[in-house]
Amino acid sequence: RDEQYPWANAAGIDLADPLEVVPLLKIVEDTAATRHRAAPIVGGQLLPGEARAVMNPADHSVQVGEVVETGRQTIDTALARASAVQPGWDARGARFRAQCLEQAANLMEEQSESLIGLIAAEAGRTIDDALSEVREAVDFCRYYAQQARAHMGSPEALPGPTGEVNELSLHGRGVWLCISPWNFPLAIFVGQVTAALAAGNSVIAKPAEQTPLIAARAVQLLHAAGIPGDVLHLLPGEGAAVGGALLADQRIAGVAFTGSTETAKLINRQLADRDGPIVPLIAETGGLNVMLVDATALPEQVVDDVITSAFQSAGQRCSALRVLYLQEDIADKVIAMLRGAMAELKIGNPAALSTDIGPVIDLDARQMLERHEQRMRREAKVLASCKLDESHSAGYFVAPQVYEIESLAQLEREVFGPVLHVIRYKVADIPEVLADINASGYGLTLGVHSRIDGFAREVFKATRVGNTYINRNMVGAVVGVNPFGGQGLSGTGPKAGGPHYLLRFVTEKTRTDNV
Ligand code: GLU
Repeated sequence: RDEQYPWANAAGIDLADPLEVVPLLKIVEDTAATRHRAAPIVGGQLLPGEARAVMNPADHSVQVGEVVETGRQTIDTALARASAVQPGWDARGARFRAQCLEQAANLMEEQSESLIGLIAAEAGRTIDDALSEVREAVDFCRYYAQQARAHMGSPEALPGPTGEVNELSLHGRGVWLCISPWNFPLAIFVGQVTAALAAGNSVIAKPAEQTPLIAARAVQLLHAAGIPGDVLHLLPGEGAAVGGALLADQRIAGVAFTGSTETAKLINRQLADRDGPIVPLIAETGGLNVMLVDATALPEQVVDDVITSAFQSAGQRCSALRVLYLQEDIADKVIAMLRGAMAELKIGNPAALSTDIGPVIDLDARQMLERHEQRMRREAKVLASCKLDESHSAGYFVAPQVYEIESLAQLEREVFGPVLHVIRYKVADIPEVLADINASGYGLTLGVHSRIDGFAREVFKATRVGNTYINRNMVGAVVGVNPFGGQGLSGTGPKAGGPHYLLRFVTEKTRTDNV
């Protein structure tokens, strides 16, 4: 069915073309100078209330906007309205829902520059990262629209004995709760919400506490594209208070969550413990992602890909490289070149085009990374570290750093930031290395650099990992091209931007009619 509904990835903005870049930077600047506001959006209305300030992670003296958090009564109103309209939304049909999402994609493309500006200001993402994120959000809208048309446009006829008609049709399950992270405040937010909407669910979106402004923008844009106000509500606020109250409510018919493994487990327990229906949880969590580099790899390409995989987005991607395994014959050379490449990295204002690495998201994130740094300085060997200066003290900057460790087990859990760990290995260690990767329990991304085809294939076969990247970097999965998602401690498995994702948001009905 998919082939009948072609679509294309968004073209984006050419950052090498001054004709496109000059107006982009002007709008980014204007966006930074504007005070933005987020609040609960219920029935299409931004609710009034007492607001708290949202500050820029690259300079915490700069206020980006303000947010009104969601109160108890509003949660109930949103749930009541979302559940009342869901059957009607499902009945409107896939074609209508797809048209709304395609219109949302068009609006997002038209407003790319200001979305990029807001992502840079609120989440501290570089222009390059923010641009990729807008493209990904646009792609999610178009891709899930196309998937809804392909799979939900009409019931599927099934065989039956003479005189019996059998049909299978897919429907929304009810009110879907989408809990999204701050590291892709637009793309993952939009990805979860549009998949749930396309499938015929109404949606309550609970954005990350750190990034409500971009979420509010996205919801307003989806409403402007034709998604009815009561079909999509935004409830910003703290995870435990707002998320907790929503999860306890029997009207929630499914949950999509991207965030930490610990929180995913907590959500799973909360859903299991409440009264009412058994509902699905789609969780996309962290990774202890490894890249294996054997002696046949091309060092220049390895270094390029390591820098991108470990440090782009200040390492704040769940796909990011955390542990680099270097075969000992090539290790010293790669490490020396890596030091050289790191010395060139520009760390600073994410809204400047020349910046490679922006800040981490907030004080908690920086403190967690500082604690890890102290531990590594005691327990590991420092291989490289970028320098910060006075100018970085205004924001939550963390210098990219590289440590040599003895084994993967030394890490225990994901370190979410620009920190890379290196382990040297010998060819004879490979079976043990592969066993260690599986034993970590995580299984999100994996990189292999080798010119021996058989080796890369062997690694792919032997590891339980969602996304394996061979002879390239291991971040930036593209919608419809690199379906993204992991297994084990890394998530429940559905692949965002893949052909089966939408099907996780539906319930199926069989109609058998003895005509
Ligand atoms: N899809 C993103 C990538 O491939 C990562 C998403 C995440 O960090 O949650 O880099």
